[in-house]
Amino acid sequence: MDLKVYMGAMLSSSFKSHISQILGCKVLKVEAVLGGDISKAFGVYTQTQRFFCKVNDSPCALHMFNMEKAGLEHIERTKTIGVPKILACGQHEGISYLLMEFIASKSADSKDFETLGHQLAAMHSLAMGDSFGWQQDNYIGSLTQSNKNHPDWSLFYVQERLLPQLITAREKRLLGPDEIPTENSLVKGCQQFFTHTKPALLHGDLWSGNYCIDTHGLPYLIDPAVYYGHHEVDIAMTKLFGGFGTSFYDAYSEHFPGIDGAKERTDIYQLYYLLVHLNLFGTSYYSAVKHLLKKYFD
Ligand code: ADP
Repeated sequence: MDLKVYMGAMLSSSFKSHISQILGCKVLKVEAVLGGDISKAFGVYTQTQRFFCKVNDSPCALHMFNMEKAGLEHIERTKTIGVPKILACGQHEGISYLLMEFIASKSADSKDFETLGHQLAAMHSLAMGDSFGWQQDNYIGSLTQSNKNHPDWSLFYVQERLLPQLITAREKRLLGPDEIPTENSLVKGCQQFFTHTKPALLHGDLWSGNYCIDTHGLPYLIDPAVYYGHHEVDIAMTKLFGGFGTSFYDAYSEHFPGIDGAKERTDIYQLYYLLVHLNLFGTSYYSAVKHLLKKYFD
């Protein structure tokens, strides 16, 4: 991170003045917020309010923040679940930033998980056209996520999700050439377990660090990687690293009762996220990836 802007836990005075201009009132204090994998995050205090600001000096960061903004605003338009309101997205002295409403959060109790389950199901239940994908490519972590539209879910999932990550893993020498299944075997493996499904709006990266519960018990989704896909993808991600209470699943399944093949689909949907983690964070994800590739696509 550039020292001009990120000095210990502080933003530079020039950056603070820029944010003050956007907010129309003086920034009095900034405080580091921990927990981000990709960017530096800050609470920005004015006399009357606190805001949340992410900054990043990588060349693709402005595009990444614009896609995050587009995803949050897309979810907001569904009026099904909360997202922080975006105030600005831009660049100052080569540093990209995303400025939004600060969500003062608490840890989730059983009632909050129940609300989250119902609200996520409401978002997934909206009728959303016939194709899988999205209006533009976006990001999963700092990796590009291809969202080319397909009418067929298996083809979308293989061509836009599994294959690009497998190719990246091969390029990074995290998987050998003989460890990459052919497109044909990927499609066949998926088709064996995928059922007919309608496109649902997905958060796209729903692990426990990407929701928060405000002090009134209202759930908010943050840091999405939205697209239209099978609703079970979001649920598979919630189960990969844990952190969602049982009342979340009980509430969600009132709207989407389990159907045959869910266990296998969960594995195949988690494979995408494991490949992303392999590509972002390295070899500690190799054996989990290898196990699923062998189980479903050998
Ligand atoms: P990154 O994109 O770098 O992974 P995150 O979006 O995950 O960053 O955010 C980093 C930290 O900031 C997390 O701990 C998250 O809970 C918190 N956070 C994210 N958005 C907000 C917000 N609008 N208000 C308050 N805290 C937030």
